[in-house]
Amino acid sequence: MLDYSFSDEQELLRQTAREFCEREISPKIKQMMHDRRMPQSIWKAMAKMNFLGMNVPEEYGGMGADPISTAIVAEEISRADPTASIPVLFLVDNAWSYLVSKYGTQTLKEELLPKVVKGERIVGIASTEPNYGSDIGSMKSYAIEKKGSYLATGEKAYISLVRDIAEIGGGFVTVLKTDQAKKTDGVSLFYMPYDKSFDVTYLEEMGREGSSWAAFSFKDVSIPREYMLGNLNGGFKIIHEGFEFARGLISVISAGAALKSLENGVEYMKQRDAFGKPIVKFQGLQFQLADHVARIEAARTIAYKALWMYSAEQKSGRFTRFQVSKEIAVAKLLTTTWAFDAINDALQWQGAFGYSKECPEEWALRGIRSFQLAEGSREIMKVIIARETVGKENM
Ligand SMILES: Cc1cc2nc3c(=O)[nH]c(=O)nc-3n(C[C@H](O)[C@H](O)[C@H](O)COP(=O)(O)OP(=O)(O)OC[C@H]3O[C@@H](n4cnc5c(N)ncnc54)[C@H](O)[C@@H]3O)c2cc1C
Repeated sequence: MLDYSFSDEQELLRQTAREFCEREISPKIKQMMHDRRMPQSIWKAMAKMNFLGMNVPEEYGGMGADPISTAIVAEEISRADPTASIPVLFLVDNAWSYLVSKYGTQTLKEELLPKVVKGERIVGIASTEPNYGSDIGSMKSYAIEKKGSYLATGEKAYISLVRDIAEIGGGFVTVLKTDQAKKTDGVSLFYMPYDKSFDVTYLEEMGREGSSWAAFSFKDVSIPREYMLGNLNGGFKIIHEGFEFARGLISVISAGAALKSLENGVEYMKQRDAFGKPIVKFQGLQFQLADHVARIEAARTIAYKALWMYSAEQKSGRFTRFQVSKEIAVAKLLTTTWAFDAINDALQWQGAFGYSKECPEEWALRGIRSFQLAEGSREIMKVIIARETVGKENM
């Protein structure tokens, strides 16, 4: 029997999250865009609501929430922050601290996770390098074991949250080669705390005005052996569990942002007259709206389904890793593409105002565009879907 409803607890969580976001996030967005950084008061308020490190087990101070509950909060944040900045902070921190909860050593979990829950540490992801993004096996940054620690050297690029992590505290789940002769079988994952010795270059980006983006290089930075996630040279096998959680959250965030933009567009169309009537009465515009509502509602359903499968696979192995990878890829491909198109039309309905810096759809268009690249590009989603459809032997 299929059941497409959220539980009573999840509905209550959504209501609580919506009220919180309308009170604590929405009023601060314009200031955030002006300052080009997230007000730390928002992060602190989110910690008080137990919205940070939501999946961290209770023994480390978290709620041990399931991925669907995390997605519900993510969706509400996406409605409140059209720039996608706070959604990015939320999704990256939750997805990658989850990987630490699952694969970190006892020492790392005890040191890091209670602070993540309190908002005193943020966990980012440092995978991409200047010359390789999708192709993880070709990456060059490496770690060499020395007297029970690892010395890390290399360069990471296009990394989100670097300034936030430098200012608040935290570090990155970092992809490092531990056997340079090998490709994906020579990759390990480490939690690498932000270090003052990093040589950081901040990058200007198209949107996400409240987030930060940077490249950083590091040389012989010491990482304790206990900060390795999973096994030596086993990083490639587990990194996808972090990516998939992040991609599922991105899917829900994209759908949420698009639905909010469509609502804004409808409100505008009701107020705006042309040729003697409100423009909402023009069937040409209603049909555009109907197409977007149909697509985004379908994509949102697939996004929650994909996260539900992820959740079941993580908890009980009910689905295989590959089934989950494919469903998550379908969700990310559809939501990120369709959300961008929906927001673009919602902007169009608002005429010249839509193109102005005052219009939330202008902010959303630039922010949501990032999701066709970040945490796995649109084309890599197609590669995954194709692989699971034609078989690995035909790739
Ligand atoms: C806003 C933003 C935030 C980001 N934040 C982070 C972060 O926090 N941490 C992090 O590690 N990275 C981050 N990234 C980097 C992101 O993960 C990469 O951009 C992405 O993985 C693609 O890698 P690339 O840019 O090196 O492109 P490449 O891998 O060099 O690919 C270039 C183009 O070729 C396509 N392509 C590659 N391989 C194939 C193939 N097999 N078939 C068809 N097409 C292919 C790609 O889709 C892309 O369009 C971020 C990127 C953006 C835009």
